[in-house]
Amino acid sequence: MQIPSLAKLNLANKNVLLRLDLNVPIKDGVITDDTRIRAALPTIKAALEQAQNLVICSHLGRPKGEVAAEFSLEPVGVELAKSLDCEVHFVEDYIDTPLDQLMQTPGGKRCILLENLRFHPGETANDVDFSRQLARGFDVYINDAFGTLHRAHASTAGVVEFFKKGQVGIGGLVEQELAVLGKMRRETEAPFAVVMGGAKVSDKMAVILNLIQSCNHLIIGGAMSYTFLKYKGVDVGNSRVEEDKMELIRTIYEEAARRRVQIHLPQDHVIAQSFAADAEPKETGGEAIPEGWMGLDIGPKTRQAYSEVLAKAKTVFWNGPMGVFEWPAFAQGTLGLAETLAQSAAYTIVGGGDSVAAVNKANVADRMNHVSTGGGASLEFLEGKTLPGLRAIERM
Ligand code: AMP
Repeated sequence: MQIPSLAKLNLANKNVLLRLDLNVPIKDGVITDDTRIRAALPTIKAALEQAQNLVICSHLGRPKGEVAAEFSLEPVGVELAKSLDCEVHFVEDYIDTPLDQLMQTPGGKRCILLENLRFHPGETANDVDFSRQLARGFDVYINDAFGTLHRAHASTAGVVEFFKKGQVGIGGLVEQELAVLGKMRRETEAPFAVVMGGAKVSDKMAVILNLIQSCNHLIIGGAMSYTFLKYKGVDVGNSRVEEDKMELIRTIYEEAARRRVQIHLPQDHVIAQSFAADAEPKETGGEAIPEGWMGLDIGPKTRQAYSEVLAKAKTVFWNGPMGVFEWPAFAQGTLGLAETLAQSAAYTIVGGGDSVAAVNKANVADRMNHVSTGGGASLEFLEGKTLPGLRAIERM
């Protein structure tokens, strides 16, 4: 189904509610990474050109339904005003003092930012009264928060039912994510390599099983690789293993054999005796990890082997780091992979979350074909699920 995009909606002189993902990291009131704000600017500018009142809403962090100063969106409002070069009214109370009063006040066009939606328990509970209050006084609703489309919250799902067909749509960011990830769900140029890393195989099981239907190579790194190696009978020492997930691994191998997908596991590792940033790193040279040691990154042989597979790929999807990349001694596998993908001619999609942090750290984000703005959302979409935020709009 074709979902109406911002360009197709009539916003002229309308009151527009725009859901964005402005969940930026803030330390001591200072925004430490403004990527999400910059990414949202084209949509904000396009809406501002026409709307009478443009009201932006977002969540920030997990304040769990309570007001907490460290999760205030106020610094984001200041940054938006600077970037847009216009006044941005910051509104803390939009429940007891309804916004429609402010929007009815005569005056020129207004850009308004609401305080963190998650200061209200009704947001994550998808509460119908909170949704109704949010929608009050608006003519149009636009969702451009891809990173939260997999959440059925008031501002992403519940609010939609208070609008009519023709009054609801998606912004440019969501449109682009759906175009790229949607194409990957339907068709990909072979050889297609899927690189999966990160902490737990259980988190990524569904997406692995889904992508195995269309990929040619499944490359495994990060802590999840030790569960795979353990399944194969390799000694993994004290590495992180999900003992109760051996059946899941069996299913992955069975499915891979059926679809003739090659699974690649680490052949060597960078190990340490404790889980600490300053732990002394050591290379194993082989796939086994001695007792008392734990794997914290892939080793040089594995980096080389993975690069060779990736050099032949025409399409690559990457999610999850190859090791504890937050610590320099164990970051080489992940940063090396980011560099390999930056140099590769394959169509490369980075699937959100920590892999985005890694490509930013390696300074190669602009050399990827697509860097998804939503980790959980992109994985759920690739699992084949319909995202609740999209379902709400599609139902109209
Ligand atoms: P995820 O959110 O599942 O993509 O997991 C990302 C996290 O996995 C990062 O914080 C990494 O530090 C962590 N991680 C990656 N490799 C390892 C490992 N070998 N041991 C422990 N944690 C790891």
